[in-house]
Amino acid sequence: MAAAPFLKHWRTTFERVEKFVSPIYFTDCNLRGRLFGDSCSVTLSSFLTPERLPYEKAVQQNFSPAQVGDSFGPTWWTCWFRVELVIPEVWVGQEVHLCWESDGESLVWRDGEPVQGLTKEGEKTSYVLSERLRASDPRSLALYVEVACNGLLGAGKGSMIAAPDPEKTFQLSQAKLAVFHRDVHSLLVDLELLLGVAKGLGEDSQRSFQALHTANQMVNICDPAQPETYPAAKALASKFFGQHGGESQHTIHAMGHCHIDTGVSRCTSKCVFFSQLLAVLIQMQLRFLTMEQGLMKLDLRPRAWLWPFKETVRKCARSWSTAVTLMEQNTDFIFACSQAQQLEWVKSQYPGLHARLQEFACRGQFVPVGGTWVEMDGNLPSGEAMVRQFLQGQNFFLQEFGKMCSEFWLPDTFGYSAQLPQIMQGCGIKRFLTQKLSWNLVNSFPHHTFFWEGLDGSRVLVHFPPGDSYGMQGSVEEVLKTVTNNRDKGRTNHSGFLFGFGDGGGGPTQTMLDRLKRLSNTDGLPRVQLSSPGQLFTALERDSGQLCTWVGELFLELHNGTYTTHAQLKKGNRECEQILHDVEVLSSLALARSAQFLYPAAQLQHLWRLLLLNQFHDVVTGSCIQLVAEDAMNYYEDIRSHGNPLLSAAAAALCAGEPGPKGLLIINTLPWKRTEVLALPKPCGAHSLALVTVPSIGYAPAPTPTSLQPLLPQQPVFVMQETDGSVTLDNGIIRVRLDPTGCLTSLVLVASGREAIAEGALGNQFVLFDDVPLYWDAWDVMDYHLETRKPVLGQAGTLAVGTEGGLRGSAWFLLQISPNSRLSQEVVLDVGCPYVRFHTEVHWHEAHKFLKVEFPARIRSPQATY
Ligand SMILES: [Zn+2]
Repeated sequence: MAAAPFLKHWRTTFERVEKFVSPIYFTDCNLRGRLFGDSCSVTLSSFLTPERLPYEKAVQQNFSPAQVGDSFGPTWWTCWFRVELVIPEVWVGQEVHLCWESDGESLVWRDGEPVQGLTKEGEKTSYVLSERLRASDPRSLALYVEVACNGLLGAGKGSMIAAPDPEKTFQLSQAKLAVFHRDVHSLLVDLELLLGVAKGLGEDSQRSFQALHTANQMVNICDPAQPETYPAAKALASKFFGQHGGESQHTIHAMGHCHIDTGVSRCTSKCVFFSQLLAVLIQMQLRFLTMEQGLMKLDLRPRAWLWPFKETVRKCARSWSTAVTLMEQNTDFIFACSQAQQLEWVKSQYPGLHARLQEFACRGQFVPVGGTWVEMDGNLPSGEAMVRQFLQGQNFFLQEFGKMCSEFWLPDTFGYSAQLPQIMQGCGIKRFLTQKLSWNLVNSFPHHTFFWEGLDGSRVLVHFPPGDSYGMQGSVEEVLKTVTNNRDKGRTNHSGFLFGFGDGGGGPTQTMLDRLKRLSNTDGLPRVQLSSPGQLFTALERDSGQLCTWVGELFLELHNGTYTTHAQLKKGNRECEQILHDVEVLSSLALARSAQFLYPAAQLQHLWRLLLLNQFHDVVTGSCIQLVAEDAMNYYEDIRSHGNPLLSAAAAALCAGEPGPKGLLIINTLPWKRTEVLALPKPCGAHSLALVTVPSIGYAPAPTPTSLQPLLPQQPVFVMQETDGSVTLDNGIIRVRLDPTGCLTSLVLVASGREAIAEGALGNQFVLFDDVPLYWDAWDVMDYHLETRKPVLGQAGTLAVGTEGGLRGSAWFLLQISPNSRLSQEVVLDVGCPYVRFHTEVHWHEAHKFLKVEFPARIRSPQATY
């Protein structure tokens, strides 16, 4: 008798198939319920520790009997499980899995090596013990499972971006052996993809109905209880996916990837540094910055991204051991991996895994990308530090994997400086992959594939995977979005597609690979090929003739608060960039002067790497948890405490034998001659002011009291306080007038008489704003905060003269910002100096407030040179 004709309604048919594969409904009789067959228990024992122990040490501890249902914790602790298992003999010929479900992130160890990560959130809950158990295989063995008491995205209390909950408990909910039915899994993948095609192409599409008919027919002929019916259902699916599209199909290059946000971990080993004291005064680079408090955001909100630093190392081990297993089982699977720092951690702590990565790199399956030490912030590091990211990264990749990276890889950062194309080109990189601009709040970026032109005209080819994610799963929906969302249709016929759980690591799964392989060439869908970044960019370059060019910065319309959040991190970063710059300049000069000088190359590399690590896109930005911020501050302290002695040693070698009162020399590490007022140390600990001139990248003896240069033709600074309490500072170049509360009422260029402060307005005006963003508290500052402006009014009579004139004049005042917060400020004008400096110290005890200082200027110009 013929089967009943297919008369059903689209929706009921669709939902019928859904129920057939559902993990929730009808699992007693549907296909999903047959995914696993027979099972048996394992014998468990466990050991709990607050430390992150190496395997060798962990397995020597005392393990106590444990069972499924046990709870452990708290947050950031580790529970090691010993799993003793005996595979039943009757399972010979079958695929056998260890099924493991627990809260937290787990790593399976076998024979002393990490072999796979297991996380519920990352859809990895079974470890393949044997793809096909042979009679000769050992059937009893012991594994270890290292369970970290944190999730893929940390341990946020209530929400992902909240501060961690230190008291969370974790539970083991499943641990057993089971027979896995690969044929059922294969049919489930087919049916889910067919549902995806039916839904994604919609009821207007002929192909959508073909997919739905095929799926419905498969349900009709497949009896979950009768495996002998599976092949006929499989044949129907194979026929559908084997119907190819035409030559013009779009090609998607799917690349396995796993974005792991880098924390920072305190090193236990330290370089040996030497320390030498010398009375040398170093003139720092930042001396020429003015109006340094132009924009300030200071607050004490909890930060949350998102796990302590040593956990990052374990995340790498969990994610990459999984990737290695997948590469073994899928010879066409290519996994792209960035961040030399993470690879270096794995090299030192998991050498066996590192060797496997090198092996797969030789086969072309493991592809190091990015070229940088970490995926750094794209705006806050100095140009020199950006170069060092590539220098340290590329050297590491060359040393460990035999070649440098040809693509810059920065999927997740908060905007991109216009100097990057030039720096990339200079570091041998012409290709750049990112996607973060898809997060723009207001304006959609107009391209996915384009040339990016930097400040000097350097151009690189940029690709944003049009699916707008770096954590794809291989669904039909994502594949279709990659085509429909592509803003460069007609200009290029290739797109990238990054699949694998990300941010907290995890990476690709076998199911994702099965989906993508099934979609390699199916009518109605784009072609999908497992590719490398190199293959993608080569294809894009081939037809790049029609691509548009974007000139200048790639600005992210979101997360702008990261420029000011945790101001101490920004300060530490800039100071340390400056110290390392100066150590290198002086050490190079010292070496040029004497071949006996030992250039501190190893120490500098170590310190640069610490600094580069802190420039990770969730560290220097301040969007990290408090634990990370504390470690970052400690690193800055390490760089200061080890960098400054190097600076003194280089200066001592450079200046040996030079004349000068009590050996005092002044060094200028900037490439132009400078004349400035300096506070010179006196023996009693006091200081005396002197006007000094130092040549470009050079030094000069400090002036003696008798050799102090005459001020002429420079006019000394005059300081006058009026009876109303206002103060005027005048050095003949500029004249500054402060009202009795410290606000700037006038700033005049004396020669021209030109007034810079806008008419009727006040400069140096502190203002408070509310700071309540839409979601990302540490990251964002929203435009609507401008509507909450409240000037902080000072009290008349608080302004006083500080330094009374001559070489330097200054005035200072106190300002009460709120009952809890206050600031003090000194306004300084030096002889011969064409700008005024504001030294501000803020005692800040506010939450969700934003402090700025305004300088409304009588200047209109679309451009500024600085
Ligand atoms: Zn990230």
